[in-house]
Amino acid sequence: MDLANFIDGKFVSPISGAYLDNFEPATGLVYSRCPASTAADVDVAVAAAKRAFPAWASTRVEERSRTLLRVADLLEARLEEFARAESQDQGKPIWLARTVDIPRAVSNFRFFATAVLHQASESFDMDGVALNYTHRRPVGVAGLISPWNLPLYLLTWKIGPALATGNTAVCKPSELTPMTAYLLGEVMQEAQLPDGVCNMVFGTGPQAGAALTGHRDVPLISFTGGTTTAEIINRQIAPMFKKSSLELGGKNPNVIFSDANIEKAVATSVRSSFLNQGEICLCGSRIFVQESVYKDFLARFISATRAWTVGDPSDDNVKMGALVSRGHLDKVLGYVDLARQLGGTIEIGGDQPRLNGKFKNGYFLNPTVISGLDPLCDVMQEEIFGPVVTVTPFRDETEALELANGVKYGLAASVWTSDVSRAHRFAQSLECGIVWVNCWLKRDLRTPFGGVKASGIGREGGTYSLDFYTEPKNICMAWE
Ligand code: NDP
Repeated sequence: MDLANFIDGKFVSPISGAYLDNFEPATGLVYSRCPASTAADVDVAVAAAKRAFPAWASTRVEERSRTLLRVADLLEARLEEFARAESQDQGKPIWLARTVDIPRAVSNFRFFATAVLHQASESFDMDGVALNYTHRRPVGVAGLISPWNLPLYLLTWKIGPALATGNTAVCKPSELTPMTAYLLGEVMQEAQLPDGVCNMVFGTGPQAGAALTGHRDVPLISFTGGTTTAEIINRQIAPMFKKSSLELGGKNPNVIFSDANIEKAVATSVRSSFLNQGEICLCGSRIFVQESVYKDFLARFISATRAWTVGDPSDDNVKMGALVSRGHLDKVLGYVDLARQLGGTIEIGGDQPRLNGKFKNGYFLNPTVISGLDPLCDVMQEEIFGPVVTVTPFRDETEALELANGVKYGLAASVWTSDVSRAHRFAQSLECGIVWVNCWLKRDLRTPFGGVKASGIGREGGTYSLDFYTEPKNICMAWE
């Protein structure tokens, strides 16, 4: 099957006629082809979005909201089909796509379609001298670039607020996982989203992605992906003064104090380490455990990891599917090898499961736990983005904080303790954008999302908020 770009409300072939093979991670086989779009395709998509902008921006907000709610309903009606497509494309278990990715994509449309109806702007009365108020307008054509780990969920988290506030969009999904974005084009057609309001251009980052980020008629860039890619994009767009938000990688600490409920900490740590094959930017990849409970925790954690089964993504009893690509599997295995060379102990995993039949060449990896590494080594400093975690003991709160903050990233953290004062004190001292206390991955779309340091910029009113997609203007009107 050949996928097509979705431009100006129609499915069209790439102008060059070139395609990229799309592999199914669980089998290692090519199962579709995705357009290898170039700057020429991006130009056509941006022109369509630019033409559609004035009418969409001046469409009444209730009407925009109704249209996006229709998108949500139609997407929800096809939930099972989307879940299967996302699993085949990305490697994750179907049950995960069915219960998390696709329902959350539906929520993204519903949340922003209704939130925009209540969007307020502030006003200030200057002691009878003048009235100041903030007038918000959509920015224009939004360039939305998304990664492969949660393909539909992260893309719709951008499309929802961008369109709700009256922008039009050109999206560049990851070339590794184009399928659900392609299907979303069908949903948008069926929902009668006006032509050109949302366009999908498939292709590689350096070709299609760079053409979009560098386009003169795209004043806003919302990027979610790796820190190295963000550096390239930042260099490209800085001289163009584009409005931008960069949501990047993480190397998140999971800190377990001796007074924690160890049973709960173990159960949640297994999920926070290995859910979605560890390919979630919010996964806790560095586990730090207080010395007095370290041995007990490690024994229980290893036994829970043993029960985290790997295999056929369509089997509802399997916990973990395949990694997204051969290249990514090799990268992750490279870090496991490095850990061995550095004298680390592979407590469990570190190898590929032996699967038979059609899965024998899939990109599977057993969940892997490594101990005994220097916290400053590359394995504990760089984002691996796979089912590989390290476990390290700590003495006290001071050392725990030093270890947790001792990386260039600052996306999220989990803290496990029953001491309320310590929970607040520690959470406030962590250098990151999100802290979960005695839990993980509970998300509320009303809260700011994102990281600090090398994990990104633009969190306050960032990529995943309505405000980011509007241009605030201060209007000052004299009373006299
Ligand atoms: P990449 O940075 O490789 O790619 C992200 C997107 O950018 C893809 O669509 C990619 O296209 C595109 N791209 C690549 N090069 C360019 C370029 N020069 N100009 C414009 N676009 C470009 O990230 P991954 O897809 O590998 O995703 C994994 C990363 O995303 C991890 O670091 C993860 O932590 C991070 N992430 C962050 C989240 C957050 O909210 N903070 C959430 C989820 C993931 P293509 O793939 O086709 O090359």
